[in-house]
Amino acid sequence: APLLSARGIDKAYGPTPALAGADFSLRAGEVVAVMGPSGSGKSTLLHCLAGIVRPDGGTIHYDGRELTAMSDAQRSALRRSDFGFVFQFGQLVPELTCVENVALPLRLNGTRRKEAELRAREWLARLEVEDVAGKRPGEISGGQGQRVAVARALVTAPRVIFADEPTGALDSLNGERVMALLTDASRDTGAAVVLVTHEARVAAYSDREIVVRDGSVRDTEWAA
Ligand code: ADP
Ligand code: ADP
Repeated sequence: APLLSARGIDKAYGPTPALAGADFSLRAGEVVAVMGPSGSGKSTLLHCLAGIVRPDGGTIHYDGRELTAMSDAQRSALRRSDFGFVFQFGQLVPELTCVENVALPLRLNGTRRKEAELRAREWLARLEVEDVAGKRPGEISGGQGQRVAVARALVTAPRVIFADEPTGALDSLNGERVMALLTDASRDTGAAVVLVTHEARVAAYSDREIVVRDGSVRDTEWAA
């Protein structure tokens, strides 16, 4: 059985639907690229799968549990324990240093400061940005910021990483490097990745690609 699956997902923000009958499946450890034109519903699909947005219809299952039947508090707890997030603009906390930013998800899960910062430093080193540990996000480059964001997404050893245009604000060289580091780390740790992108060059780092068109995905995996 897939780790994460969705069937017939509907979501509308107004009169026009953002998603209409979208299907999706993700196996443990798999990297899936969600492609499609701007406005096709890619981010909405990611937000539904990650339990951030509650769909109007359809069902989502994660690891044998029905995500769409959970309360807001249950989904929020699941996001903290099992999911990691990387967005287009790192969304690091500007007041915290980079090592404190990476340690934050561990601190929220109850890990002591010393242990959390030790593990955060290990992840910064792995993403080749240990030198920015003591700097604040405003003092580092975009490429460095995205590496810090990837370290923060991985530090809790999530089973699924949700990455929404993670290289969208980077030049192609930095973008490729961040994708290589992200996919290497996910393979090493066994984390699956849902990667939203409109760039073929970025999708090339995935195991499988699906395409969203006008709010609909026919995930070919279901036919198998
Ligand atoms: P993509 O990620 O493929 O660019 P989105 O999922 O962001 O597509 O958007 C799909 C559609 O839903 C678009 O028409 C967009 O304008 C609309 N939409 C997305 N998020 C919101 C929101 N929070 N409020 C209103 N409309 C939204
Ligand atoms: P990258 O190759 O990661 O994009 P850059 O070549 O842009 O890095 O930046 C090199 C150095 O310049 C970085 O180590 C960083 O300290 C500094 N730097 C880059 N951009 C900024 C910025 N917007 N604000 C402050 N310092 C920056």
